[in-house]
Amino acid sequence: MFTKSFLKKIKEQLLQEKEILSGKSIYRADIDTDGDDTDEVQGNMLIELESQLNYRNNQKINKINDALEKIEDKTYGLCQECEEEIPEKRLFHNPYFVICVSCAEERETEIKQRKRF
Ligand SMILES: [Zn+2]
Repeated sequence: MFTKSFLKKIKEQLLQEKEILSGKSIYRADIDTDGDDTDEVQGNMLIELESQLNYRNNQKINKINDALEKIEDKTYGLCQECEEEIPEKRLFHNPYFVICVSCAEERETEIKQRKRF
């Protein structure tokens, strides 16, 4: 079981990160696409890059929301694969980890093996 103070710290960390990320995703590059062709191509490229960044941010925000929900459900920090508790140290480093070290390693070897064939 995780201590209340640990969960509180994680929650604060998650909320803080979410705040930063949502601030970023609101940001829109001020691009003028009404110019000549070169400007338009460059502008579209920037918009593309921007939306990719936003997409990544949103995915991270989703992960954070999931983690926050799990804290409320008291299922936070349990490995999705084997339901073992993920060590606090690991969670501190990356609060939205959903699998433990050994399952992550297993998964990695699986991916590597799949790539080989
Ligand atoms: Zn596991």
